[in-house]
Amino acid sequence: MTTPDPRLSERVRGIEPSGIRRIFELIATMQDPINLSIGQPDYDPPPALIEAAHRAMLAGKNRYTVTQGLPELNAGLLDEVAARYGRRPETCLMTSGVSGGLVLTFMSLLDPGDEVLLPDPGFVMYRHLATLCGAKVRYYDLYPRQAGGRFGVDVAAIEKLVTKRTKILFVNSPSNPTGCVLTRAEIQGLCEVANRHGLFVVSDEIYDLFCYVDDYASPVSYAEHCIQLGGYSKSYGVPGWRLGFATGPASVLDAMKTMQQFTFVCAPAPFQYALLEAMPAIDLMPHRVQYRQKRDFIAANLHPVYGLLPPEGSFYAFPRLPGAVDSATFLQAALQQKLLIVPGNSFSQRDTHFRLSFAADERDLRRGVDVLNDLARQFA
Ligand code: PMP
Repeated sequence: MTTPDPRLSERVRGIEPSGIRRIFELIATMQDPINLSIGQPDYDPPPALIEAAHRAMLAGKNRYTVTQGLPELNAGLLDEVAARYGRRPETCLMTSGVSGGLVLTFMSLLDPGDEVLLPDPGFVMYRHLATLCGAKVRYYDLYPRQAGGRFGVDVAAIEKLVTKRTKILFVNSPSNPTGCVLTRAEIQGLCEVANRHGLFVVSDEIYDLFCYVDDYASPVSYAEHCIQLGGYSKSYGVPGWRLGFATGPASVLDAMKTMQQFTFVCAPAPFQYALLEAMPAIDLMPHRVQYRQKRDFIAANLHPVYGLLPPEGSFYAFPRLPGAVDSATFLQAALQQKLLIVPGNSFSQRDTHFRLSFAADERDLRRGVDVLNDLARQFA
């Protein structure tokens, strides 16, 4: 890597480029790769949604909307959250993807020196945004406590990480990269810790459609101060549309709206109109069923050699590296067989696992598990 220009802000010099980006660059140079590194669904958006977006653009809905998004969209969203989780958040805001929601949340809540509790492993953006705000990250562990166990949280261990400076307890369930869905007891336990210490629970629920266990619990139901971040990128297959939402207490959401006014301005207007018009008639459940089948295929084929338990949600699995191999060597060997996966240390302080995405077609999933089982034999 070249030395950063010293005229760049210290803030931005503290951030290294995403490891996943480097994989994207590599893919562009390969012929017929087995790409299990993808962070987006492999299906197209519902045609009705595209048609509605087209109509909105033709009808001149191309100007700014109000900062918080279309009022009817806001109202429908709050109704839906209230119906699902038994509590109606005070207010909400349409954001430029969950990424936009994360930026606004962190900027509105974190001062330099404040502390944020993040899952390890976890989505890379969280820690970089915390760093941009000058906040200190403390990690809580999601790794299985015993061999062959599930990913999950130890609530008592998390409470020990709380200090006077802790402001945010961050939750991501279903999780990227582990595929873990926190149980209701885990969510309740986390929220009790947050409530006892006056912390904000920030809940990234972007994978909520992709939940393969019967009970999905959200901190919205239990946390006194919850900022819920939700999205459309994954569920509707529209990551390029940059649409998401935030719900929570007006005291925080109003600050986020002000921040949005001076940063993103509003979520993309024609796509907001498209959601408003088309969403009520769209059934996403077939995608959940289809992705559960992909999950079953991956787990059935990787369990014998990797001991992989079926991921409870999202479209990722996070198997342990076989034998004593490090992720760089394993990835290199995978690449030689055209397989692209993401090293666990992109998401974690540890280098013991790797992430694979099963948001891929059947052919690539088959080729992928064959290569992985071959590598396991090689490195056992
Ligand atoms: N949160 C998680 C856990 C993610 O995996 C992603 C995308 N990879 C995002 C947030 C951002 O999604 P978007 O900005 O497209 O809504």
